[in-house]
Amino acid sequence: MRDAAPDTIYLKDYRPFGYDVKEVALTFTLHPNRTRVNSRIVFEPKPGGDPVFFLHGENLELVSASVDGAPVTPDVTPEGLTCTVPDQTFVWEAEVIIDPANNTALEGLYMSNGMYCTQCEAEGFRKITYYPDRPDVMSTFTVKIHGPHSVLLSNGNPTDQSEGFAEWHDPWPKPAYLFALVAGELVNHAGSFTTASGKEVELNLWVRPGDEGKCAFGMQALKDSMKWDEDVYGREYDLDVFNIVAVDDFNMGAMENKGLNIFNSSAVLASPETSTDGNFERIEAIIAHEYFHNWTGNRITCRDWFQLCLKEGLTVYRDSQFTSDMRSAPVKRISDVIDLRGRQFAEDQGPLAHPVRPESFQEINNFYTATVYEKGAEVIGMLRALVGAEAYDKALQLYFDRHDGEACTIEDWLKVFEDTTGRDLSQFARWYSQAGTPEVSIEEAWDAGTYTLTFTQSLKPSATTPDPKPQVIPIATGLLAQDGQEVVPTTVLELTETTQSFSFEGLAEQPFPSVLRGFSAPVVLKSDMPATRRAFLLAHDTDPFNRWEAGRGIARESLLNTIRTGTAPDPDYLNGIRTVLADETLDPAYRALMLGLPAQNELATTLFNEGTTPDPAAIWSATDNLRAAMAMHMADLLPVLMDTHQVTEPYAPDAEQSGKRALANGMLSLLSRLDDGARAAQQFEAADNMTQQLAALGALLRTGNGDDALGTFEAQWKDDRLVMDKWFGLQVIQSDPDRTAETAAKLTEHADFNWKNPNRFRAVFGSLAIHHAGFHAADGAGYRLLTDWLIRLDPVNPQTTARMCSAFQTWRRYDTDRQAIVAAELDRILSQDGLSRDTCEMITRIRGTE
Ligand SMILES: [Zn+2]
Repeated sequence: MRDAAPDTIYLKDYRPFGYDVKEVALTFTLHPNRTRVNSRIVFEPKPGGDPVFFLHGENLELVSASVDGAPVTPDVTPEGLTCTVPDQTFVWEAEVIIDPANNTALEGLYMSNGMYCTQCEAEGFRKITYYPDRPDVMSTFTVKIHGPHSVLLSNGNPTDQSEGFAEWHDPWPKPAYLFALVAGELVNHAGSFTTASGKEVELNLWVRPGDEGKCAFGMQALKDSMKWDEDVYGREYDLDVFNIVAVDDFNMGAMENKGLNIFNSSAVLASPETSTDGNFERIEAIIAHEYFHNWTGNRITCRDWFQLCLKEGLTVYRDSQFTSDMRSAPVKRISDVIDLRGRQFAEDQGPLAHPVRPESFQEINNFYTATVYEKGAEVIGMLRALVGAEAYDKALQLYFDRHDGEACTIEDWLKVFEDTTGRDLSQFARWYSQAGTPEVSIEEAWDAGTYTLTFTQSLKPSATTPDPKPQVIPIATGLLAQDGQEVVPTTVLELTETTQSFSFEGLAEQPFPSVLRGFSAPVVLKSDMPATRRAFLLAHDTDPFNRWEAGRGIARESLLNTIRTGTAPDPDYLNGIRTVLADETLDPAYRALMLGLPAQNELATTLFNEGTTPDPAAIWSATDNLRAAMAMHMADLLPVLMDTHQVTEPYAPDAEQSGKRALANGMLSLLSRLDDGARAAQQFEAADNMTQQLAALGALLRTGNGDDALGTFEAQWKDDRLVMDKWFGLQVIQSDPDRTAETAAKLTEHADFNWKNPNRFRAVFGSLAIHHAGFHAADGAGYRLLTDWLIRLDPVNPQTTARMCSAFQTWRRYDTDRQAIVAAELDRILSQDGLSRDTCEMITRIRGTE
């Protein structure tokens, strides 16, 4: 059995550190197993501060320590050290030895393909040296690196360099989680950017030799991000150089270390032959996200990790604004909402539910969640909707002026808006403290020219929110006349009470409401309005989000009816979707999104919420039937739309071309059901870019005729690790549910299944987890396979293991047989000796109590 339960840390217990750190100097002498880290840190006691001098430190071999040059013998525990120190400014020096080559957890300093790199957020710096490893301790850093590598990088600006040596100085005070170091035989793709005030910034994208050809897009995305942040937020870059490094072994997407961003190679390397349109868009967004952190995260950071949403919610919101500006705003909004409903709503509904600002945790790595990031961004969007764009801009400028160089809280953030607008945001602040997705129901009334909408909000009590109170919900609403003309343009209604009515006067006829336009709040809308309303909105709504939402709603109802009673697909849906797809006035990317059906996991949520035990196999076949009916109903249209949306110009990953490809490939997927993959085989043969090749391969796999193409693809791409991740993942995604676990298991025997690489592990098991019917197959094979591999990975990489555990978060929705299997598997994980704190916390929360 594992050791005693890990300690829980509470927001209410926050205490400031008793010392200011005036400056930090670090010297690294690199060695795979015995890297020497010398630190020299100037501490100054804070008047009236906590006198206990505690420095975090884990897995460090302490060689020596001194205070003001005199050797000391600190009291060392596995978590850190305490030491008696003077009550005036003093110099702490220490030498430690660390072992990067055996650091498989990928936190702190570790090695990937012979290259040294770091990951310190959230609490990795304590694995490098003894330090107050908390975000509210900010200091300037000078870093010297000795190593036999051609490239030696750290934060800030280069100040000295010679053979086997480099020195860097970062003039901006920062918390230790933003520290970074990279050493390796790397090549760079160079660029430059001139800031609005005329400063020249050197830009470098560092990659392994052989990857030089995959850098141009990332470099352009960086320049676009720098320009956008100047234009939209008035934020300029503040160092002489900005470095990005691509690393193959990385737990997350990317990390915003000051002046030295480190990226998972999947989140930065791109070429038309090896990357899909979706990859390009994601890369552009992640580069922007990490760059934007320079102001929202780095210059203004978080006081403690409970405030993680302060930097993440805001920065996700900023990167979604950027993508909307670079591409299509409605398409971006719809994609974000699909993602929010798929991941965040599921989180809200299960045992992992927590507020945007949690109040306790055991392992902070487990709180890099959809709730903190995506719901955190929704909260910013609501705030902007409530105060208006102009006041939002003013508040942000005040935030940057007031808090530059500080470690802040959500209270500081909201105060800026209160001071700018004079609004009281105490009720709005509940969005940060109450867990769960509010439900909003609507009733309407019509009386002699006056139309009234009455909204009622409710929030289910949960473990962290036992007594929920009404929240401030901005409901963007427009009214349409019966001929489809808009009679009341979008107006933001502020729902603050449990039940509240809003009237519109002087109308000639009873209008049709278009409610929650642009998905103005992350809520579930409940309405008893007749189905014909949805068809009307699908045909006429002037709000592109709600038009899409109407189609989505009809599809959902049709699927649910098939699942409940076996009824055939709704002809109104088939006709409506056909009309929309054939409408050449609509953006192809938007039409491609219209073609998507609600995720099977989302359908399971809906069924569970109405008191039905979801049957994954039934959900799968209802979805499959509807897709088949769509193909039949549009049989004549499919080849026509495919042909008219072929791109004839040279490949470019821009919004226009990728929209056309998305629509054509949507058609291809349906068409393959009718022609047994003939057209897909042609496209696979002819494809000169990954988007076309992968879409064709996926369609062929679905028809069961993909084996040859799979072999061809593997032979072509066996040396490209990022493309091979797609090859692994696609086979699982496209498998029939009764063979999903078997397919995944077989792939783990492949010679290239490097399970210690997080990208490869996720390619197989992330795909297994999102294959709803495959993972939840009645025989439990999916559950058992994932458990086997989580147990294997945990001692090697706790962080990636813990994240994958969320696959089990919805287990209590299903029937008692499945629940019994999952309970036994969760117990099997919990019974492992030496289970990591990360995984222990996740599985304990998911397992819950009977
Ligand atoms: Zn971030």
